[in-house]
Amino acid sequence: MTRAASPVGAHTFIWSPRWDHAGARRAATAAAEIGYDFVEIPLLDPAIIDVEDTRVLLDDLGLGCCCSLGLPAGAHLPDRPEVAKAFLLNAVDVAAALGASVVTGALYGHLGTLTGTTATERELIVIADVLRDVATHADRVDIRLGLEVINRYETYILNTVDQALSLVERIDAPNVRVHIDTFHIDIEEPSIAGAIHRLGGHLGYVHLADSHRGALGSGHIHFASVFDALAAIEFDGPIVVEAFVNADPEILRATASWRDHGLDPDEFASSSLATIRALQASTRF
Ligand code: MN
Repeated sequence: MTRAASPVGAHTFIWSPRWDHAGARRAATAAAEIGYDFVEIPLLDPAIIDVEDTRVLLDDLGLGCCCSLGLPAGAHLPDRPEVAKAFLLNAVDVAAALGASVVTGALYGHLGTLTGTTATERELIVIADVLRDVATHADRVDIRLGLEVINRYETYILNTVDQALSLVERIDAPNVRVHIDTFHIDIEEPSIAGAIHRLGGHLGYVHLADSHRGALGSGHIHFASVFDALAAIEFDGPIVVEAFVNADPEILRATASWRDHGLDPDEFASSSLATIRALQASTRF
């Protein structure tokens, strides 16, 4: 039996910190030329996105898109649930207008906001209530939501796969899945493959980044076992190469990405795709 192949995407922070007219062209053209199926467009500030311009651009290139975000500091969900909800509903509408099928990332909070403790029961209730309403709206416009598990230095809300599964259960909406990122899972879980097996059908989205966020395959993450685990759970969702070669300044700060890896965007994107293709050929994924 043949299985649908996962579409392979590139995060546009490889090429441009802003999805404006010029940044969109730079990122989308390169991604299409290199051979990616889609681009992941950041919706940190949905207001700067020219929806019509992007649709035409992606159509011309034959590229799909997914959208991702972390909430702004002033919309940290547990503290400002109404502000966060309005932001997320608008992001879902913009994503749907762009033709995206997924809105994913830190939908539950602001990256960099830390309380010194894990999320409280009260905070988790507030988060689940808001995300349930957002998921209901997203379902109407055929959008799936992803909750990204992110390491302890960037958020206190979702650090582990078990916490993510528990939040998904609390939200209890059919279009909410877990999003893992190999960089974060490598920090927080004993095994990335084990985390993938535990998630099974709840896994909806995968970010591929190496242990030091450098070129894919140059760090210590054993991607062959990651791909074998994805094959074992019959994962066919989007996989995305994420790197902050040219990221938004707020994201560089939140992720402590101030070290220059000396990566050339096009070289990084093409060598990463070659690494993925080689892994697909040598694993069952
Ligand atoms: Mn990520």
